[in-house]
Amino acid sequence: MRVLLSILLCVSSFACSKKTTPTPSFLHTGAVFLDLPLPTPNSIRSGSGMPGEAYWQQQADHDINVRLDVATNVLIASELITYHNNSPDTLSYIWLQLEQNVHRADSIRSREGRSTGEESYEGIRISKLQVDGESVAWHDYATTAKVLLQQPLHSGDTCVIQVDWSFPMPVTSGLRMGYDDAYADGPVWELAQWFPTPCVYDDVYGWNTLPYIGRGEFYSNFGDYTVSITVPSNHVVFASGALTNASSVLSQTEQARLETALHSDATVTIRSQDERVHTAEGEQTWRFTGKQVRTFAWATSASFIWEAAGVEVPTLGNKTKRVLCQVGYPKEASAVWDEAVEYLQHSVKYYSETLYPYPWPQMSMTRGKEGGMEYPMLAFCRGSSHQSLFNVTDHEVSHNWFPMIVNTDERRHAWMDEGFTTFVNHYSLEDFYGTRAHKPDVSKYIASKFMHDLKAINTPPDLLKSRGHLSYRKPGYGLRFLREEIIGKERFDEAWKEYIRLWAFKSPRPADFYRSMENASGMDLQWFFRGFFEESLQLDQAIEKVTQTKDGVEVTFRNLGDWVCPVNLTITCTDGSEHNYTLPVSVWAWSSRHIQTFDLQSPAVHVEIDRKKAYPDIFPANNTWKTELGNGKK
Ligand SMILES: [Zn+2]
Repeated sequence: MRVLLSILLCVSSFACSKKTTPTPSFLHTGAVFLDLPLPTPNSIRSGSGMPGEAYWQQQADHDINVRLDVATNVLIASELITYHNNSPDTLSYIWLQLEQNVHRADSIRSREGRSTGEESYEGIRISKLQVDGESVAWHDYATTAKVLLQQPLHSGDTCVIQVDWSFPMPVTSGLRMGYDDAYADGPVWELAQWFPTPCVYDDVYGWNTLPYIGRGEFYSNFGDYTVSITVPSNHVVFASGALTNASSVLSQTEQARLETALHSDATVTIRSQDERVHTAEGEQTWRFTGKQVRTFAWATSASFIWEAAGVEVPTLGNKTKRVLCQVGYPKEASAVWDEAVEYLQHSVKYYSETLYPYPWPQMSMTRGKEGGMEYPMLAFCRGSSHQSLFNVTDHEVSHNWFPMIVNTDERRHAWMDEGFTTFVNHYSLEDFYGTRAHKPDVSKYIASKFMHDLKAINTPPDLLKSRGHLSYRKPGYGLRFLREEIIGKERFDEAWKEYIRLWAFKSPRPADFYRSMENASGMDLQWFFRGFFEESLQLDQAIEKVTQTKDGVEVTFRNLGDWVCPVNLTITCTDGSEHNYTLPVSVWAWSSRHIQTFDLQSPAVHVEIDRKKAYPDIFPANNTWKTELGNGKK
């Protein structure tokens, strides 16, 4: 999900006008350096941050048939879910997600007074629910349902859940999907969270049944999907999978263009504005398969202009392959979407090369109601300018790595997908615009923001108000700070890629991330993770005094906040020489005052902490000492 760039780039108007006096409780005890209270490592999640030898996760394969009735705006569907119990436990019930029920009056969101605006929404109507061919009872709790199994599902066993259901398309709200009828050639339907699916059962929480409220996104099982989508015959469909029946739904010309596009770096038009068919003659069924995906979304419209090109990416086996990058947009969006394929190509390639090879055969993006939302192989975006479309495309495509490949629990740890993507988007944007004239300003995080919302980043997003700050910007900045100032680029990048490799197609928790980064970087970072992610400690480094002694320049430093960091110091001497030092974080282990002498022959005229202004120092005004000479006075 995308927070608007304008919000991303916004600057606090409060600035550093007022000194705060945080309580240095941790410093007084030195507890900021103590180990975090992380879960005890076991054979499932090891102390090194790796999945252990006994790691397991459930798998839910879906075979779905869905028909969109455009006359009534209702989806009618049936599915077979093959649910593999890979856990060591015997299950007597299965929790299902029914996320469309968020629009119902009895959902938690509605009862919080935040109705999505759907009038008298009836939600998902289940007409058949069977397990292994036998009807089962279930309890409906709005966005979740408890299915009571007639026979317990033993460890290693598989059951088949059959569900027939329908629901009316929500037309008012656009909650990560939507119906958009603003186009001359017909509406755009974007479908997500549209099918009943088992909640995740895991080794940490058992059943993960946090309800769908809206701020928290998703945590779902990997599975293989086969989905047949029946729509009016003049529609184009994009989905979280590869199209497997092109010969049934495309003309021979379109099929040939699609093949050409895969091998072309330049954009190929598959269906142009003039080639769209304006009157449907009956319906046709598009079939897709999605392998190892954590959910399945799709979009359909008669309005879509369809463009595509291929991009070469590395594979895990050090070979290369081409990924089809394709977009669908109504003609009304042409002025902004004309470079959209190029944006997709860049992001798929950039993240394949810097994070982990893109594992799927295609990546699609459609233009409809949703401003920016990610699904495997498919993003819903709008964009109001080329630059904003690049930003939202890049962000949503990067979600293919977090959480589509590294399957984190977004309903508890939103920063592990939104913060991680914000972090990598910073470098992708620099890479894309590096040679272009209209390179946008890279957002600079203003440390004074750290003085406002003091909830911890690792707070479930449904309990956060300032999600844009605490799930996106602050963790995105924090990881950049960790990479560039604390660990160092080379050491960080090895650890970061190792974390992604270890947890690709698995589900890490924050402790696994912390341990993995510490192990691969070889650094104790508990103080960092505590101060930045687990708590909301504040940094205020200061220079108290500078004196010239017979041994050199003696600087007295203070740590006035309740967090700690290394100290980056620059001393300028009367002879014009400049000297840079990095004091390790351990200088704060004993006291919040640190005195150190620097062996310099010439007296200091200017002494400054964090000259690059890279640190989240909430009160930078006390970071500088200078003589009158250093002040430019004679
Ligand atoms: Zn996002």
